[in-house]
Amino acid sequence: MKEKMSRYRKLSEYFKERYGVRVQRIPIFAGFTCPNRDGTKGKGGCIYCDPYGGGFSTFRNLPIKQQVLKWMEIYKKKYKKVKFLAYFQAFTNTYAPVDVLKKKYEEAIVNGEIVGLDISTRPDVLPEKVLDLLEEFKKKLDIYLDLGLQTVNYKTLKILNRAHTLAEFIDAVIRAKRRGFFVTVHVIINLPWDDMEDVIETAKILSALRVDGVKLHSLYVVKGTKLAQMYESGAIKIGSLNEYIDRAVTFLEYLDPSIVIHRLASDPPREGTIFGNWGLSKNEIVRLIEQELEKRGTWQGKRFDYLNV
Ligand code: SF4
Repeated sequence: MKEKMSRYRKLSEYFKERYGVRVQRIPIFAGFTCPNRDGTKGKGGCIYCDPYGGGFSTFRNLPIKQQVLKWMEIYKKKYKKVKFLAYFQAFTNTYAPVDVLKKKYEEAIVNGEIVGLDISTRPDVLPEKVLDLLEEFKKKLDIYLDLGLQTVNYKTLKILNRAHTLAEFIDAVIRAKRRGFFVTVHVIINLPWDDMEDVIETAKILSALRVDGVKLHSLYVVKGTKLAQMYESGAIKIGSLNEYIDRAVTFLEYLDPSIVIHRLASDPPREGTIFGNWGLSKNEIVRLIEQELEKRGTWQGKRFDYLNV
């Protein structure tokens, strides 16, 4: 039977096209912190930031090389043919002197089965010397940069205490793209301070910047955060699941169809979550979004007609 066409550009399909096999990300905890938590850029961090800085790696207490090997073992038992991306996930993974970064990145490249480095960071922590270092690594493998943005609404960025502006994000994307790195952007599409117009504008700006990938998230609330205070005091309300699905579908409609969708939702942390995903799993939410795309007979890029391309 002929396989049904996807209504959005799926990551798994992109990986197969590029590497010929399944690719798994290996989450690495490399011991970094964040300039928005240690007072260099800001204090207290983003209002939603959990104690693990957005990375929940199971083997976080092991040296980097061991973390990678453990995950490889697990995935190889599960999949016959698989390659890997070393995913530096938690906190700000470019926030250290270049020689320290070099050592940590090298440690993760345990063998030729690692086809790329995936480095998660803030857009304001990408100095040219770090890009020079990554360009050296790019001679041997692919470089994916995961940039946290969340929204193009710069007033919301302030409320979130991101401690960077939209301009710094645009600057980071332009400089990273100039070097030929793959840029993936993290966006939270149901921020209580944003409306559909912000979601659409986010899709448009990411398309105009020619980013390579996006990761959509729903806002989750973790105990002990400023967001938790706001949520528990009733100062903010998180929209409904239907609203999230509507925003995700609309975001996709406005997004350049060539941009790879790395995620349509993510799972909240296993510990300390007060609110997350309306009690559903990430996969259930993805399924609902796919159903809605089907129901509306729409697809990624349907309304991508606003740029002179
Ligand atoms: S930039 Fe990331 S690690 Fe830093 S405070 Fe914000 S969410 Fe946490």
